[in-house]
Amino acid sequence: MTQPTPKPPLNPVNVTIFVGLPLAALVLVPLWGLYRGYDGFQWLWALAFLYLNGMSITGGYHRLWAHKAYEAHPALKWFFAFWGAGALQNSILIWASDHRRHHRHVDDDHRDPYSASRGLWFSHMGWMLRKYNSNDPDFSNARDLQRDPVVMWQHRHYVALTVFMNVGLPLLLGVWHGDIIGTLLLVGLLRLVVNHHVTFFINSLAHFWGSRPYTESNSARDNGFLAFLTYGEGYHNYHHIFQTDYRNGIRWYQWDPTKWMINLCSRLGLARNLTRIPNFKIQRAILDTQFERARRKLERAENPAPLLASLEREYQLFTESVNQWKALQAERYERKVAELEGAIEERKLALLHKWEHAALRTKFKELEYSLKMQRKRLSMLMQQVQPQAA
Ligand SMILES: [Zn+2]
Ligand SMILES: [Zn+2]
Repeated sequence: MTQPTPKPPLNPVNVTIFVGLPLAALVLVPLWGLYRGYDGFQWLWALAFLYLNGMSITGGYHRLWAHKAYEAHPALKWFFAFWGAGALQNSILIWASDHRRHHRHVDDDHRDPYSASRGLWFSHMGWMLRKYNSNDPDFSNARDLQRDPVVMWQHRHYVALTVFMNVGLPLLLGVWHGDIIGTLLLVGLLRLVVNHHVTFFINSLAHFWGSRPYTESNSARDNGFLAFLTYGEGYHNYHHIFQTDYRNGIRWYQWDPTKWMINLCSRLGLARNLTRIPNFKIQRAILDTQFERARRKLERAENPAPLLASLEREYQLFTESVNQWKALQAERYERKVAELEGAIEERKLALLHKWEHAALRTKFKELEYSLKMQRKRLSMLMQQVQPQAA
């Protein structure tokens, strides 16, 4: 019989932070509330700190540094570096390097530092409480970040920064307000603990609870309710397939305050080169997943042959649309190269631009529309499936 492998030793600093602080908050915050009570000033500042910390993690640590989904003005980087340190989730360098490993080896028990396949608790915070090998720092995937002076400055001064943001600033607020202990408890302690857990939901719950419209190749899920708690990061299935998109909730109505903030920053000149995955690619991912699901369903159906034949015909059409789209993209790319090389003279270029806008756009729109129709036909086809009699 194989012996169960012993668990690695506890990490005392992390246990103090992630077990000690929530326990302290659970006891001290209500006690002070009963004794002295809190007022609107303190609640409002706690909420403001919560969002400043949370969105510096999602907009800064995550979408800017870990995924390079856009480029930020140095002023914005410094802002994220300070408020992100206030979230007490390690330095940008360590956080982003861990996160890149999470994406690259998602659900791999040995290489994904917070692999969801090791369980809900492990992916939520268990991974930080012990000295697991999967957690050893390795910055070979973050050389670009090591060249970023803001990242390296924050990494060097991380402890001082986080103490200043979590104790110094709430203390100053408390002095201004006249209730130091109450402000420290609410803006310092409770806000920190709440922000920890809502951001940890992205690694835990967003890999367990929700739908998988874009890919079933990993455990990440889309969940609108979680998006509400996680500053927009609950659309995690989309994020895992298109990690360089600056948006996680791609529809205008999907709750993603982080994407709205990045968008606003780009209008203010603080962010640029925002990456958006083309709509066709998104539709393609949805259809791919639906074809996969349809095939599985049909294999279990009664007399599947005729429906399977229809499905394969649809798949053929789908592949043709995808190939046409790729050809159009290549055409567009070649034209860009020709323009850059100056191979096309000025006058012709202006005409070509006009043509490109009209003709290419129409072609792209047609292809997007064809995928949309195909999704409808596929869902009608699947309604005809009779499950096999037991
Ligand atoms: Zn994930
Ligand atoms: Zn990510």
